[in-house]
Amino acid sequence: MSDPRRSGGTATHGDAPLPAQSGARRRIGLLGGTFDPIHVGHLALAHAARDALRLDEVRLVPTGRSWQKAGAGAGVAARLAMVRLAVSAIPGFVVDDRETRRAGASYTIDTLIELRAELGAEPALVLLLGSDQLRNLATWHRHDELLRHAHIAATRRGSHPLSGFDAPVEALVAAHGRDALPDAPAGAIVFFAMPPVPVSASALRERLARGERPVELLPPRVLDYIERHRLYRPAAGGG
Ligand code: ATP
Repeated sequence: MSDPRRSGGTATHGDAPLPAQSGARRRIGLLGGTFDPIHVGHLALAHAARDALRLDEVRLVPTGRSWQKAGAGAGVAARLAMVRLAVSAIPGFVVDDRETRRAGASYTIDTLIELRAELGAEPALVLLLGSDQLRNLATWHRHDELLRHAHIAATRRGSHPLSGFDAPVEALVAAHGRDALPDAPAGAIVFFAMPPVPVSASALRERLARGERPVELLPPRVLDYIERHRLYRPAAGGG
């Protein structure tokens, strides 16, 4: 049962994926987010996951209309453009814009089902989450179906521990938690480490609204885009 990794069917938007290492199942990490704006915390998570989980590709999947975050600061097109600018030079990182093209609310389960239909049963899909999102998982639409289509890999973010979850998430971790990703396309929950990067998009938006230039927290091309398009500035006249 040692099928070589699939080489086709990868819908990329920009960069070519890294060539798969021979002899192992292809692993595709999926990092969904509002990315309003994309920042160094997102990129650190993606890099740490790629290295710790030996991912062949990291797909960043910006949400369309986020069902959990009302009143996002920038429009969909600007968020997508910033994600593209942030990762276009990073080998193996690709942008998947399907949620931004979807009418109505964005649900991760729909994205996973679509990806499975496109990529087939073989590759491992790995949903990458900060611990704040894992703690929130039971509120996600059809959350109990996610592991049928993907693994979940979570890392600690700031003050949100990777333990002491609410009962539904605790039960999922008890049933599906593993020390390492198994050789399977889906079904496990694993944790991975990353150096803490204390940044959030909401705090960044506040700083940008005050006219600050948080150069250390944003990829340079993203900060340039924000400034050129005057994003996250208070509307003239206030209110
Ligand atoms: P906001 O402040 O508006 O809530 P955010 O910074 O949390 O935004 P999202 O786009 O919602 O950004 O995050 C996408 C994913 O990245 C989530 O899984 C989140 O946990 C993770 N993430 C965001 N920032 C960090 C960080 N600093 N360290 C680790 N993970 C992060």
